[in-house]
Amino acid sequence: MTTRIAEVALAVPKRTTFEYLLGDSTPAIGARVQVPFGNRKLVGVVLAIKSDSNWPVEKLKPIQQILDDDAVLDTGLIKLLKWAAQYYQHPIGDVMQSALPVKLRQPNSSEMPQITQWQCSELGRETDAATLSRAPKQQALLLALQQSELTDSDIKQNYTTAIIKALEQKELIEAQLITPQSNLDWHTQLQVNIAPKPSLEQSLAITCISGTQHQFHPVLLEGVTGSGKTEVYLQAIEPVLKQQKQVLILVPEIGLTPQTVSRFRKRFNAPVGLLHSNLTDNERLAVWQQAREGELAIVIGTRSAIFTPFLSLGMIIVDEEHDNSYKQQDGFRYHARDLAVMRARFEQLPLVLGSATPSLESLHNALSAKYQHIELHNRAGNAQHAHQQLFDVKHQPMQFGIAVGMQQRMRAHLEQGNQVMVFINRRGYAPSLLCHDCGEVEMCQRCDKAYTYHKGLNKLQCHHCGDAKPAPQQCSACGSKQLVTQGVGTEQLEQGLSQLFPQYKSVRIDSDNIRSKSRFNQILDDINQRQYQILIGTQILAKGHHFPHVTMVLIVDVDGALFSMDFRAAENLAQLITQVSGRAGRAELAGEMWMQSHQPQHPLLQDLVQNGYQHFARYALDERRAAGLPPFSFQALFRAEAHNQATAHQFLHSVAELIAAQAHVLPLGPFPALMEKRQGRFRMQLLVQSQERGALQKALFVSMPQIEQLPLAAKVRWSLDVDPQDF
Ligand code: ADP
Ligand code: ZN
Ligand code: ZN
Repeated sequence: MTTRIAEVALAVPKRTTFEYLLGDSTPAIGARVQVPFGNRKLVGVVLAIKSDSNWPVEKLKPIQQILDDDAVLDTGLIKLLKWAAQYYQHPIGDVMQSALPVKLRQPNSSEMPQITQWQCSELGRETDAATLSRAPKQQALLLALQQSELTDSDIKQNYTTAIIKALEQKELIEAQLITPQSNLDWHTQLQVNIAPKPSLEQSLAITCISGTQHQFHPVLLEGVTGSGKTEVYLQAIEPVLKQQKQVLILVPEIGLTPQTVSRFRKRFNAPVGLLHSNLTDNERLAVWQQAREGELAIVIGTRSAIFTPFLSLGMIIVDEEHDNSYKQQDGFRYHARDLAVMRARFEQLPLVLGSATPSLESLHNALSAKYQHIELHNRAGNAQHAHQQLFDVKHQPMQFGIAVGMQQRMRAHLEQGNQVMVFINRRGYAPSLLCHDCGEVEMCQRCDKAYTYHKGLNKLQCHHCGDAKPAPQQCSACGSKQLVTQGVGTEQLEQGLSQLFPQYKSVRIDSDNIRSKSRFNQILDDINQRQYQILIGTQILAKGHHFPHVTMVLIVDVDGALFSMDFRAAENLAQLITQVSGRAGRAELAGEMWMQSHQPQHPLLQDLVQNGYQHFARYALDERRAAGLPPFSFQALFRAEAHNQATAHQFLHSVAELIAAQAHVLPLGPFPALMEKRQGRFRMQLLVQSQERGALQKALFVSMPQIEQLPLAAKVRWSLDVDPQDF
């Protein structure tokens, strides 16, 4: 009898698969097995079955247990994951592991798990919800549960535990452990509820998208907020569902609003599954299994939902495709939008990338005809964009980063009973040094790029050529001593606003506040009830929410983005400005948006304000082309940190030498990271750039094993980020 060997991917930090001997039974490819590894037992995924090995067979250990009867990762997904492991230079076992629901990373059964579901008690069904009118949240929840049962995390998206408890104590609702019901027949019962008549532009988009099924057909759907993109998705997936095919819709973390989800649920009375970060492990596994069995018509999910298995996937939609939350920022640093493109290609599927402010990468692909480009120019309703204006802050008296002139505007809006949103950018813009009197920015003459100001060292350094000099005391253009670094601290701003406007209530919306989805939704409710007058916003506010009572938006600092060492900063700023201005105000009350700048004549700013994002983006693409930056070149970023700066530097220096030995790639650096020191560790980075994706890939592929062998590789904490979004 021939020996049979399984090739298994294990989540260990090695770039290889591992071989084990098989006994009498043979696992499916894509099934999980439990195997001995050192003195541990690990769960891995079978990638191949073969009969010979490069190792002496007697040295191979036997598999301990086959955990699944069938594959948990189908061949299509395995192909995608193998590609991703190669492309992102990430260990294959860890990639496979990341794609599995947490439950399946352990030797748990992959059977359909039980999940907690809430329903009305008999009393609750008979109770008239109107009796709860003094507790509107409780009333809303009771009403919702009188309509249908809801899972625990579905409820917790919108209601706090206190509200759930209150209804439970009144014995109006009760929890139950259930096994999610299979509904394989959703397509025979598919009903399409009444839809608005599409506009001409929408009809064209719908025809283009749903006209080409069963083949790779990527479409960039570019349309301002409110132009009816979601309506296009809804009508374009109808024929897909009718053919018994499933649809995957990716949304940014925060975009997963109850309103969006209920639009899909209401249009088709077909099962919709949600995948987001607030699910319990069992709930996640349940959705995963239901999608895999074909029981869900639609799956709406955030980043990692790109790894959902489907019985019969028919279309992928990536909403707000420009959003940075699609990029995983640690471990396996994939970009879900880019994987969506690969998945659609491998599985021959139509793909829609939708955005009001497309990424320059996708726009470039559309303009070069790799993607079909469909634009929606008209707004569906008659909502309006806030009017964008620049405010020149040179020489202006400022308090807490807000010019006195702007304070007066704010006051005027507040006195009208309207809300004002003050926006601060918390993305780590590299601080550059700027003159408050003339607006001059200290630039590297050789590179025509702003110097980065390193506060700790009190030095200016050019992150392109490495030139460094002591920070000057005076402006090199006008001699003024009013040199300021860009960016106002968030705490400083918050305190300042409460001093300037003590009679108005303010709320700050940042990542601390949205950690709990129900708290975030509570705050949004309170804002719309006008409990707060001043909203202090970060990026989060730009995404997916409408603020009908906001009539003025103030962006405290736009200069930071213009002179950042992060070349995407200007693009991200423009996206944010456009998104925010599309979400403030309402039809009869269009808002105004002010941007404080020392350089209001800057061509990028002027272009954005006068011509809008569409025009700006094309201009920015030309700039990128001229500078040889992505998407006209390809990048990878090595990050390293160590207790000693010299160690991190030395390691990256050796990496640069190895990379430099490869053809058509250019290592830039090492440079200190934006945040030079964190938790007692010094942080450095090395950028690798190439004009050809293939050359970059090859250089990384050849160098990585050599880098791993470097003596310092074990002493330094380091990582590689392919197509980095953040610097
Ligand atoms: P987007 O996703 O681009 O922000 P939506 O699809 O949400 O736009 O549309 C904005 C609003 O206009 C929604 O309230 C939607 O119901 C409505 N709408 C969209 N298309 C139409 C249409 N053809 N006729 C009437 N109303 C529409
Ligand atoms: Zn000056
Ligand atoms: Zn330079």
